Amino acid sequence: MSRDISADEFRAAAHHLVDWMADYLGGGVEKYPVLSQVEPGALRAALPSAPPVEGEPLQRLLDDAEQLVMPGVTHWNHPGFMAYFGVTGSAPGILGEMLATTLNVNGMLWRTSPAATELEEHALDWLRQLIGLGDGWFGIINDTASISSLLAIAAAREARPELQVRERGLAGRADMPVMRVYTSVQSHSSIDKAAITLGLGHENVVHVPVDDAFRMRTDALESLIAEDRARGYLPLAAVATVGTTSTTSVDPVPEILRICRVNDLWLHVDGAYGGVAGLVPELRHLMDGVDGADSLVVNPHKWLFTPVDCSAFYTRRPEVLKRAFSLVPEYLVTTASDSVTNFMDYGVQLGRRFRALKLWFVIRAFGSDGLAERIRYHCEMAKEFAGWVEAAPDWELMAPTPLSVICFRYAPEGTSEDERDALNAAILERVNASGRVYLSHTKLGGAYTLRVAIGNLRTERRHVAEAWELLRESARSTT
Ligand code: PLP
Repeated sequence: MSRDISADEFRAAAHHLVDWMADYLGGGVEKYPVLSQVEPGALRAALPSAPPVEGEPLQRLLDDAEQLVMPGVTHWNHPGFMAYFGVTGSAPGILGEMLATTLNVNGMLWRTSPAATELEEHALDWLRQLIGLGDGWFGIINDTASISSLLAIAAAREARPELQVRERGLAGRADMPVMRVYTSVQSHSSIDKAAITLGLGHENVVHVPVDDAFRMRTDALESLIAEDRARGYLPLAAVATVGTTSTTSVDPVPEILRICRVNDLWLHVDGAYGGVAGLVPELRHLMDGVDGADSLVVNPHKWLFTPVDCSAFYTRRPEVLKRAFSLVPEYLVTTASDSVTNFMDYGVQLGRRFRALKLWFVIRAFGSDGLAERIRYHCEMAKEFAGWVEAAPDWELMAPTPLSVICFRYAPEGTSEDERDALNAAILERVNASGRVYLSHTKLGGAYTLRVAIGNLRTERRHVAEAWELLRESARSTT
């Protein structure tokens, strides 16, 4: 007899939960405020301070999740969620996640679940084709883009075997050059964190200035590399971004690639958000040059409707990645290791969840046309919103809108920059307190900037129109 909860009790609770899930996803989510309105500590105060001694029925757990947990949830699956980057736990992705957790396999080696490894290879090969990359890419799923970019920079360092970092480390070595990584001032902080984690030093991340459209300036990149060489530093890698976090600007990858090749730098492309634009024929040009890079990250858990976590990391040089990370103790030796992929060899983690299932389900359930159509719809709504801002007196766009994020602010005539900053911060507070939409902000050229980020499958034109209405109302009552 199983010592788990009985199959009957599980079945009843699971049916109840699935009904709740279908209602929630089918519109029930809109009953909740998108941004949780609780005060810090509210959930902890509502929970018993010690764990239960006697087990509790599953149904009571579910009831408490609804009563106690739900008020503290910010609803990323709400159509009014337009902060940061919108994400979606879509129906097929959720089914894939349910199956993965039921099977609960650990795909560290091919042998520990052949299907987990092979489906990961296959789903990533499909995604590669979908975003318009050629053959010759090796893919692996990580939890986040932060980890994918960390692996990329570790591989860039391993691509210099003469440094012997793997064997000898960095500390106490007079022969170790200063290694430099180049990325734009608009790139994501995960690149800085990767350099910090790898012991390169934060000050060795060189933040290249950008042009008026927030794209890396390649003339500056070239001269910064030359200056570093003249100082005796070792230019190691460049990170270009397709879809930067603040404005979704796209760096000029073809030119960055050329500079990397001339200077012998590893080129990593951060397409965590924007990489999926390659799925849409009229946006595919945003991926120009990416096929020639050494590595790339694209997050299906951002704009490809796959529940968190699912970050696709690709490299053209898997042998270098493997050299950086493979370490096989006796208890993990398997006979088939020459003819199969053991994903533990390509990163830090040993154990790995069966994440490929949800990505495979998402790609199959929507198909390439369906995915492209959904991404296109988000971009169309963003263009329309940008048009409303442009046409409205006292509002201004702060950046171009190449994808599905609009950067803008309220800038009434006669107000100073400081007043505008304060005004826009107050507008944001008010709009978010409404519970109808959730927006976030950034700073561009030092100015407080509002962002509307459209990326959830449930977001329709009426939600975007409501966001605009709330913003204008809030501006009227704030001034
Ligand atoms: N790169 C870019 C361009 C991002 O916008 C983000 C997050 O928004 C990341 C990387 C980090 O993503 P993750 O949370 O998967 O580490």
